[in-house]
Amino acid sequence: MSNIEFVGLKSAPSKSLKLKGKKVHVTDQVSCTNTRIYMKRYEDFVQYHGAVSTKNIKEADIILVDTCAVTQQREDMSLEMVKKSETLAKGGAKIIVCGCLAGINPKRLQEYYKGDFFSPKNEKHLAQILDLDEEEAKFLDPYNIRGRFMGADYTDVSLGLRLGIYACTLAHQIDNVISLHWIPWLGRFLDYSQAANVKAYAISVSQGCLGNCSFCVIPMSKGETASLPISFIIEKIQSLCADGVKKIILTSEDVGAYGVDLGATVVDLLEHIHRIKEEFYLYINFIDPRWLRLHGSDLVKISKLGKIRFLQFPLQSGSNSVLRRMRRAYQMEQVLPHILEFRRRAPKVTLGTQIIAGFPGETLEELEETRQIVKKNYFHRTDIIDFTNRPGADTEKMDSHLPQDEIRKRVCLLQKEIRTPFIMPSY
Ligand code: SF4
Repeated sequence: MSNIEFVGLKSAPSKSLKLKGKKVHVTDQVSCTNTRIYMKRYEDFVQYHGAVSTKNIKEADIILVDTCAVTQQREDMSLEMVKKSETLAKGGAKIIVCGCLAGINPKRLQEYYKGDFFSPKNEKHLAQILDLDEEEAKFLDPYNIRGRFMGADYTDVSLGLRLGIYACTLAHQIDNVISLHWIPWLGRFLDYSQAANVKAYAISVSQGCLGNCSFCVIPMSKGETASLPISFIIEKIQSLCADGVKKIILTSEDVGAYGVDLGATVVDLLEHIHRIKEEFYLYINFIDPRWLRLHGSDLVKISKLGKIRFLQFPLQSGSNSVLRRMRRAYQMEQVLPHILEFRRRAPKVTLGTQIIAGFPGETLEELEETRQIVKKNYFHRTDIIDFTNRPGADTEKMDSHLPQDEIRKRVCLLQKEIRTPFIMPSY
């Protein structure tokens, strides 16, 4: 078991051997980088109390099932994973469903599954499920640094995807030793695929967000922004640098909202991180573009310093009227000038975005506005995803939902405008 640090806790939580002799297995990843960090934390928690990890689900006594429900497809994949775990589990094994499905659609989960589960908002329940007490549960204290080395956690995938993962992992392994950034398109690809890099370490700087987007159910499982103090993150990065780590991912549901609950900002965090003398690169996921209105110029200034290699601003649409119905807190003219500023003044930074195609009531004119934005190639990576109606999201009450085949047609139309070499599969 790797030496688990407790950056944040005054003292290491009490360690029991209540799970001694038990084997714990974590299922294939279905979720995002932030939830994968949580899954690692749950695995470390079970190991901390005596269990050992196993890659073989059939010999496991405790099976932690990773789930997601941000889209219909991820929810279906998660339920398949739950069913498969029940099929493969040995008699008496304890299956525990973790991740966002439990917080977003527990009703559907319980139609298929009668066992234990908990959501990221209610982690201490994992301790109760394993008969560990309050003191022993302190390990899961949210004010304790969370992170993990990345790399794809897939075993049961198609040959095509397996080859893709293998090629991507290999490219990272070479780039970790000899930089491949002299090949521009490959450098960009490596920047926005650090989640597949086994030498990249991802830190969860906060949980949750401050958004109220009409299509999104993530707050149902992750709650409002809860940030880790800057000092915890700095201490963690310094210890990673001391261990020779060169690539660090900062992630959350919305990194842009970092620190609002602490009276700090994402700019404060990045300025502190840039005071660390060691050489390393930063890859930053999920900054809601609304924060460009407040921090755009400062983020450009910091990006010119050269540590930041990747920034992701999920636009979700290129049409102001759709953005209003999505309840996104910005309009295009408030964010695009900042994106152009990044391209002009920090050209080494790889920029990523995400677009939802087929939002309820999306007219052909609105679709055309988004197509024009994608066509102009503001971003080096653009993920186009199908709109899916999520239970509990306000879009559920909206009328004029588009038929699924029309949504798919719009995804393909927008993907045709993407000029980057790799189009990531849409979920
Ligand atoms: S900012 Fe909006 S889209 Fe992002 S997690 Fe929060 S509610 Fe969802």
